[in-house]
Amino acid sequence: MEYDVAIIGAGPAGLSAAIYAARGGLKTVVFENALVGGQIVVTQDVENYPGFEESVSGYDITEKMHTQAKKFDAEFRTEEVKAIGLEGFCKIIETNKNTYRAKSVILATGAHPRKLQVPGEERLTGRGVSYCATCDGALYRGKTVAVIGGGDSAVEEALFLTRFAKKVYIIHRRNELRAVQIAQQRAFANDKIEIIWDSVIQDISGTDAVESITLFNRTTETVSKLDVDGVFIYVGIIPNNGLLKSRVPCDDQGFIFTDETCHTNIPGIYAAGDIIHKVLRQVVTAVADGAIAAFSAEKWIVENEAQFIDTNLTIDSLPEA
Ligand code: NAP
Repeated sequence: MEYDVAIIGAGPAGLSAAIYAARGGLKTVVFENALVGGQIVVTQDVENYPGFEESVSGYDITEKMHTQAKKFDAEFRTEEVKAIGLEGFCKIIETNKNTYRAKSVILATGAHPRKLQVPGEERLTGRGVSYCATCDGALYRGKTVAVIGGGDSAVEEALFLTRFAKKVYIIHRRNELRAVQIAQQRAFANDKIEIIWDSVIQDISGTDAVESITLFNRTTETVSKLDVDGVFIYVGIIPNNGLLKSRVPCDDQGFIFTDETCHTNIPGIYAAGDIIHKVLRQVVTAVADGAIAAFSAEKWIVENEAQFIDTNLTIDSLPEA
């Protein structure tokens, strides 16, 4: 099966790339091994996506993008991409079901939550340890929970959890939050939230479910126990870069370096969204990356038309150069 562009990942970056590529007349396929929408799909309130005066859910935004991409005839396949290979200028995409050829690839596989890697975390995941307040928050009505981390995710999800929990601790390893000011101010003003500064978790305890956490205060060097019913972990994200990791330059956390056209160092392979090295990870920057990657891929295909004729790939679907 042959395509002009294969997009891997159907979060905001992949969906935006699909809209731009398919609307630009490229034969476009999007591979997604789980749900369309990516990480943002579990965010209840997105307040900063331009065009929505009232907050909008991550699910609603991405579902609209999905419908829009399908309107322009982007194909969606629920398949897991196992490998990307090269055959001359063509890209070979091997999934758990088939092998595909495409002239260009846009990698938009996003990121996943970082684990704390403390005793009890793995054993009690799903039994009080969670990485998704939107999914599990309602289970903690009237209960006490701890949120670990000081970034946007931790603070926003702590605020969300106050809808259900009677008490929400934010445990942060420093004495200053990383989250944007507006979120910080809301957290400081919320009576249900208490911030425990300069502290890290040593372990999560409980027989069948979370009962308590052990904290180490880095300033006073004291250890204390805190009784909680749930622990929500938001200590950053890890890029899903397995398909290209060893073949493209990445920063020290594994986020892929691209140029301003979202091009990686491999001709015709682009990367977009949370997986790339950048200063701001938001839906609005992910969709911008996706648009840039699709626009640039189209240009790259046209410029390299002759290479594809040599390798017998059809270029019928390409617009006039
Ligand atoms: P993040 O910004 O990387 O923050 C991770 C937080 O966890 C930091 O406060 C960090 O502490 C702490 N941390 C890291 N490792 C730790 C460890 N081992 N033990 C204890 N604490 C640890 O990650 P994020 O909040 O998940 O956000 C990811 C990206 O998405 C960011 O670019 C963020 O801006 C973006 N985002 C945006 C929105 C929004 O705009 N509405 C919402 C969510 C996320 P230090 O501060 O000391 O490093």
